[in-house]
Amino acid sequence: MNSLLHIDLDAVAANVAHFVTIASGEVMAVVKADGFGHGAADVATTALAAGASRLGVTSLDEARVLRDTGVRAPILSWLNPADADFRTARDRDIEVAVPGAEHLLAVAGCTGRSGRPIRVHLQIDTGMARDGATPADWPELCRLAHTLEYAGRIRVVGVMGHLPCAEDPSHPSNASGRSRFTRAVRVCRASGLDPRHLHLAATAATLNDPLSHHTMSRIGAGLVGIGSPALRPGLTLTAPVVSCRSVPAGTPVGYGHTWTTPQPTYLGLIPLGYADGIPFASKGAQVLVRGRRHPVVGRISMDQTIIDLGPEPVPVGATVTVFGGDGPTVAEWAAWAGTLEHEILTGIGPRVLRVIVPARARGELQVAS
Ligand SMILES: *Cc1c(COP(=O)(O)O)cnc(C)c1O
Repeated sequence: MNSLLHIDLDAVAANVAHFVTIASGEVMAVVKADGFGHGAADVATTALAAGASRLGVTSLDEARVLRDTGVRAPILSWLNPADADFRTARDRDIEVAVPGAEHLLAVAGCTGRSGRPIRVHLQIDTGMARDGATPADWPELCRLAHTLEYAGRIRVVGVMGHLPCAEDPSHPSNASGRSRFTRAVRVCRASGLDPRHLHLAATAATLNDPLSHHTMSRIGAGLVGIGSPALRPGLTLTAPVVSCRSVPAGTPVGYGHTWTTPQPTYLGLIPLGYADGIPFASKGAQVLVRGRRHPVVGRISMDQTIIDLGPEPVPVGATVTVFGGDGPTVAEWAAWAGTLEHEILTGIGPRVLRVIVPARARGELQVAS
């Protein structure tokens, strides 16, 4: 009797296929944050089999772990401090994004004189004010990159940007971000560089704005079902009812007595709490038990959540669907908790047992290794 996170890799494969169809360029599968909570290596392998050609992660460490599990496809890592050990990139064949001169020199310093140059993607700030060189610093970065490429220290294989407001197709920053990006590519080429991979669009831009596609889309959220009704959710979270108690009207429930039973009822207990990713701040949340929705009542505890089962008792061991399947959606939970679907998906704690529904053995559950 365990709480289970069912990971549907068929859904991931279908979502990848959707993006392969709509994107004008290649699809990079972004598997940061443990594949948005779905298992980085499993999502990576599934995405590559379904038509993605490359992988993206945040840190070099995430990239190294993928290499350790045997992934051979190109991997790009885009967020490392300038003093990161870029020898990992050299030794494990990992591409790195470079937002400025300091980074570029650090990366170049890791290629031995006769070694293979580390492949870099120059990163331009297209409106996030988060990562990437400013348009003012860009020409100098490109000049330096050209010098270092000529010296055999690095090789510029890409230019990347990221759009802050692509979820809103009418937002003016989409057009300004796109033109910043095209100008940056022009400057890069005028510096004598020949970047092959030009990538600006993540999930939302790929769905909403074909002008942003260029040669590649970096798809993260979309792999796991966020962003369009055409996509399939990949996670179902279930838990057993561990107890069911009969209580009279007027019974205060849980820490702080924030809720009191208005009538006699049965209270069910499930062994999941905020340490497992059930957001403490949820208001009005519901779960599915035996085909019916029931409200979460009282405060969510660290490890436990109480649900109001109403006038009929439920046997201990009955399955509660927290989200996914026929139960509430992750989007509903995000709304109840005042957060993003992303935060729900990436927040499921380590004690929840992962089970995989692989493409090759539909219907048979496999425990994740
Ligand atoms: C997370 C991230 C992505 C993926 O974005 P989604 O909206 O999840 O597809 C792409 N690019 C960068 C730089 C990111 O940080």
